Amino acid sequence: MQLKTDLYIDGAWVKGDGTLPVTDPSTGSVIAEVATAGEAHCDAAVTAAHNAFKTWSKTAPRVRSEILRKAFELMIAEADHLAKIVSMENGKVFSDAKGEITYAAEFFRWFAEEAVRTPGDYRQAPSGDKRILVTHQPIGVSLLITPWNFPAAMATRKIGPALAAGCTVILKPASETPLTALAIIEILERAGVPKGVVNFILPSKTGPMISKMLHDPRVRNLSFTGSTEVGRTLLKESADNVLRTSMELGGNAPFVVLDDANIDDAVAGAMLAKMRNGGAACTAANRFIVAKSVAEEFTTKFAKAMGALKLAPGLEDGAQLGASVSIKERNKIADLVSAAVKAGGKLILGGTTPEGAGAFYPATVVTVDKANPILNNEVFGPVAPIVTFDGDAEAIELANSTEYGLISYVYSSDLKRAIKTAEAIESGMVAINRGVISDPAAPFGGVKQSGLGREGGFAGIYEFLETKYIGVEI
Ligand code: NAD
Repeated sequence: MQLKTDLYIDGAWVKGDGTLPVTDPSTGSVIAEVATAGEAHCDAAVTAAHNAFKTWSKTAPRVRSEILRKAFELMIAEADHLAKIVSMENGKVFSDAKGEITYAAEFFRWFAEEAVRTPGDYRQAPSGDKRILVTHQPIGVSLLITPWNFPAAMATRKIGPALAAGCTVILKPASETPLTALAIIEILERAGVPKGVVNFILPSKTGPMISKMLHDPRVRNLSFTGSTEVGRTLLKESADNVLRTSMELGGNAPFVVLDDANIDDAVAGAMLAKMRNGGAACTAANRFIVAKSVAEEFTTKFAKAMGALKLAPGLEDGAQLGASVSIKERNKIADLVSAAVKAGGKLILGGTTPEGAGAFYPATVVTVDKANPILNNEVFGPVAPIVTFDGDAEAIELANSTEYGLISYVYSSDLKRAIKTAEAIESGMVAINRGVISDPAAPFGGVKQSGLGREGGFAGIYEFLETKYIGVEI
């Protein structure tokens, strides 16, 4: 398989100052060595993006739109190849990887369409003798930092709106999954993105080098997706130059099953909400909050569906649950389960780490009480803690008892009751009677410590635009 492994700066593939091994987590073997960037590379990427901004920001929206459209078409045409790269470096099963590539490509299509539709405003001031003109301009050089769990979609969800808005970018992927990002950069190059508009770096020392870039006055915007902990650090770093920031951070999604829910539907939704991406999703249902009267039926049926999943390397035929991204991440999952059991949780399914070099962990269901520590942590794996409640008010209280507020799920056969519950839950997104709601055409983002800003939908392009007011005397 042809893999790009060099840095991409100012329209050229360049060697780094060293290399970083990329591992297949299903086997533990190294699949590629990717170039790492030194300080000079990071500086060159900023210079390239800064220079390219002068012309890219003035390029006709239609031209920007058509390049993004071309990138969408290339991604779809090469979806199988790209999905294999995702599966190899991330561990997720091929069907999940293919789903991610399609989802990722849709951000290029959506923002190709948005590039030519940025609205403005022309109004008479209340005083009558002045006019208010409002327009939007690209912010400038944008640093994009992405996580390992959706190596394709988190990159395109940022690159799409940035390019549509007229910004130039420097992409820094997670060190576990740079190959997918490199494949996307290569597609953008073939789609006709001019030199300097998109740059790729993988710093050899992430913290200090990113910090230096965030203190370079030519960088004006940081778009970050990752953990809340790293997000907080980067917000502090961004404060010195008062950068625009967009923060898509961690989640701890409640999945609320009210007593009138259709349990078969709830189980089908739970399987999607929990197991898409093997549970390694910021949107993954992390706390199953189930009405006492239906808890036994839900737990039995859900554990049966979870137990039927085939745990195998992501590219193996019939695999339904792949490896975690690394042994380190897998061990974090195992530790959270052990702590949950120690605190009184009862294992219904799974909970035993398999032998071998692959970073596998089995589908696990554990019933807990509401004080169990697992409810306070983002698990990021195939683990479903179930806690019960009495009455809708307690369900809402449990759902809100976290610092996170990204997404929540509500199952009920009474739409009015479900909407009332959705309105009372503190999260940026709520799925009613659905296990997946991510959609490039919808605003994605969280409240509380799950982040700032929205990606996708009509809102996404504004993360890369400044609002400018022009006042006119008439
Ligand atoms: P992470 O925060 O460890 O890393 C994210 C990115 O930040 C990586 O590229 C990493 O190399 C980089 N990074 C780490 N330390 C840094 C530093 N000091 N300075 C600059 N960059 C640094 O997260 P992860 O483990 O890759 O991803 C999992 C997390 O991402 C989960 O918490 C998940 O909920 C979150 N996530 C959120 C969303 C969302 O849209 N809200 C989507 C996907 C993942």
